[in-house]
Amino acid sequence: MATKLDVNHGDTDIGKKIWDIHQDNEYTKVNNYKEAVCFGCLKNDAAAAMVADICGECAGKRGRETLLVSIKPVYYGLCYFCGHYKFNMEQINCRLCRTCSRRVANVMKDYNKKGGFQGADPFWQRIKKKHGKDWKQIMNNGTKSYRQ
Ligand SMILES: [Zn+2]
Ligand SMILES: [Zn+2]
Repeated sequence: MATKLDVNHGDTDIGKKIWDIHQDNEYTKVNNYKEAVCFGCLKNDAAAAMVADICGECAGKRGRETLLVSIKPVYYGLCYFCGHYKFNMEQINCRLCRTCSRRVANVMKDYNKKGGFQGADPFWQRIKKKHGKDWKQIMNNGTKSYRQ
């Protein structure tokens, strides 16, 4: 692309620059009706920007065109899109339509219902199954008993 990138080192300027870059791109621009291409389903609909963690598989399916910003790599975590725990995740900024953000919200609701990180993660589920209801104490005492 022939866009001249003259990045100014001031927070608001950079924010404005990113916005301009996005507005120049048909995949990431927002129209006057606050409609934009949804990262989740690629439909042009009322969409809001959000930060989400995504696994390589889900990101691969959706492509990079509608991605706003890739924030940082995440070594391991919950994918907001398929609800699975994966390695080599990525934290992204993207726009989602109402249907897709509801889908993501349901993944998060389910995750919170299971008790957040230690409830939903298969690793901690295995620990709980192995140690029963005293799993927290056993894990906390674990470092001590290893030394004995
Ligand atoms: Zn969507
Ligand atoms: Zn995924």
